[in-house]
Amino acid sequence: MGGRWVQARAGGRRDIRCPADGTLVATVDEATAEDTVAAIAAARDAFDKGEWAATSALDRGALLNRVADQLVADKADVARAESLDTGKRYVESQYDVDDVVAVFRHYAGTAGQDAGRVVDTGRVDIVSRIVHEPVGVCGLITPWNYPLLQVAWKVAPALAAGCTFVLKPSELTPSTAILLSRILADAGLPSGVANLILGAGAVAAAPLAGHPDVDLISFTGGLTTGRTVMAAAAGSVKKVALELGGKNPNIVFADADIAAALDLALTAVFLHSGQVCSAGARLVVADAIHDEFVDELVARAAKIRLGGPFDPAAETGPLISAAHRDKVAAYVEAGITGGARLRCGGDRPQDPGLADGYYYLPTILDDCRSEMAVVQEESFGPVLTVETFTDEEDAVRIANDSRYGLAGAVWTSNAGRAERVAARLRMGTVWINDYHPYVPQAEWGGYKQSGIGRELGRAGLDEYRETKHIWHNTRPAPAHWFSS
Ligand code: NAD
Repeated sequence: MGGRWVQARAGGRRDIRCPADGTLVATVDEATAEDTVAAIAAARDAFDKGEWAATSALDRGALLNRVADQLVADKADVARAESLDTGKRYVESQYDVDDVVAVFRHYAGTAGQDAGRVVDTGRVDIVSRIVHEPVGVCGLITPWNYPLLQVAWKVAPALAAGCTFVLKPSELTPSTAILLSRILADAGLPSGVANLILGAGAVAAAPLAGHPDVDLISFTGGLTTGRTVMAAAAGSVKKVALELGGKNPNIVFADADIAAALDLALTAVFLHSGQVCSAGARLVVADAIHDEFVDELVARAAKIRLGGPFDPAAETGPLISAAHRDKVAAYVEAGITGGARLRCGGDRPQDPGLADGYYYLPTILDDCRSEMAVVQEESFGPVLTVETFTDEEDAVRIANDSRYGLAGAVWTSNAGRAERVAARLRMGTVWINDYHPYVPQAEWGGYKQSGIGRELGRAGLDEYRETKHIWHNTRPAPAHWFSS
């Protein structure tokens, strides 16, 4: 904070353990609220001094490019740290670093775009213009599933806009945020612009939402925590951006390319063992193809190989913690009790080599109904629920029957139907005949209780900018509104 590495004032420490086998990865400082308040003061001071906001947009963009260059150079180390913290496959962490680099490059390119516009007032003596300014001090709170990527979605546009920030990454996966902080400092970011706080959310992050010196809170995480953050932010009426959960439908019509739909249905839900906010955890399949489609899906899901980050044979990894695995198992058990048919998984793997990790088998629950908790709530694990539909109307109704609205997909070879369904899905992202791809140029975010605001794209930059109207009367004269 304030350009220096400082120890937690109360002396707190936390062990970070790899979820794949429980080995100790690192021991890091654990902040208390007092540390966070000090970090907010550093970010406030840096913003009010104005050095970063006054740095030209081109120079801000150049710094973001230097950060991207360094991430490319450090890719192996960063990916390794991410894999050790999360347990995800090393190759996936390498893809994640590529994505992080793309986000920094994207915002490096947009920093100098759209400085504002001139408004036509119809009066030649008036210069009326719209300018964009940094929103100020930002509190950035991020989750553990894509630790550095979620950080990058916030840090890159915040810096491009000229903001200062206090970042609080997940207490389970802090390593890559530490590495990024070093890279930001080495790239020449002025002291106090980027401040990092490590620790438990309710202690170390909570002050960010309530503190009057924080102008914007950008939170990615679960719905319940999001509600707490939003309520805490109300006291100081700060700007709030929320990226919350999803329970995302993957709709397959009978006329779809079945080979592709099957393959991507597996990726949709079992990538990173389902710990993906946009996971296609809700299969909504035409009743005409249900049996053959689900039979094949079950056969393939049962063959998915689990393993640690550096096991070349592994296709997916563990869950983040024992507590999280218990939560996933409880959803599965409740689903079965409620009438769902367990088709595969539903248990820990028997392999003794995986006994020290938090593994859970890819699981498919058939014969599900929309009202079941396992269908409505985010288990955030490798659990696919299956519902069937009769026609297009039925498919849209089932898919929209959710408090969430983050993402979804529709599979059909009928282009007209694809467009009709995409238009009616109440979600921030809709894939047609695909699942999961995203690019930093395109906005990401949720309808309904999946969130407020957008990350990435142009809107992702605008989250970090205020809009000001400047009215300049170049020929002032009395208005004579009042006669006195
Ligand atoms: P979480 O809500 O438990 O924690 C997220 C962050 O909030 C962590 O840094 C945590 O320390 C902090 N936090 C906890 N309590 C807090 C409090 N009282 N005040 C302020 N901050 C607090 O979520 P998680 O388990 O880390 O992540 C999984 C969730 O994130 C899932 O629901 C997933 O869908 C969501 N997610 C959403 C997106 C998206 O783009 N919409 C992306 C990734 C993850």
